[in-house]
Amino acid sequence: MGFDEILIKLFGKYYTEADFVEKTYAEMNKFGFDANNAIACVSVCRDEITQPLIALIRNKWGEAFNLSSLAGMFFAGQTGLAAAMHHSPNIGGKERYVFYSLPHIAIDADGRIGVCKRIGRQGESTACGALVAFQKELSEGKLNLSMDDIDIEQNLLKRRLLREIPYGHVPDLLELTKITQKVVQKDIEYALNTIVDRRKSDYAVISGVQIHGPEHNYVWVASCYAVVNEVMEKIEI
Ligand SMILES: [Zn+2]
Repeated sequence: MGFDEILIKLFGKYYTEADFVEKTYAEMNKFGFDANNAIACVSVCRDEITQPLIALIRNKWGEAFNLSSLAGMFFAGQTGLAAAMHHSPNIGGKERYVFYSLPHIAIDADGRIGVCKRIGRQGESTACGALVAFQKELSEGKLNLSMDDIDIEQNLLKRRLLREIPYGHVPDLLELTKITQKVVQKDIEYALNTIVDRRKSDYAVISGVQIHGPEHNYVWVASCYAVVNEVMEKIEI
């Protein structure tokens, strides 16, 4: 099975990162968002292999407020979100925000989930490392949920994701990544709902999974919509 077929089997439709950014920008244009009147905000993993996507979004939108944490979790909260929103252009009293949220996963040429190579390092590496570590604890039945100050983000990640996993169930890395995607989207939406003023602001939420293939990065889109003049418009990507 070729890599394209593997991606289709695991995710269905997918895009290269460049096509994803072009397409989402074009779709957002139809709803009145552009680089001059909107701020883009991004939540991806801290991993350096996620960064090309931030660069593409920044190039397209002119800037990108970084909401990222390990695994792309949304821990910036109301404070982080409010800061991003207060940095938006304000044109005629209207502000516009575009939120990109994408956890990530590596897949190698043989379809092995979580496996990648890194420049300058021998052997194989993993992505997302934070989710791999959590999945390993789950599968070994040795979950460390201590809340010491030395590993705050990973501890928060485990506590948050556990709320979405049925007790006793051990998801594999692919399932765990898709759970994470839903959690990040839900958490951004929850925080947004508490602070956004839809009478004065239009916004969009684009959520999916960033996929690191053997040669290139790709994006699977799980959900995309815009809220314009208080009306939610679903967007097919
Ligand atoms: Zn990661």
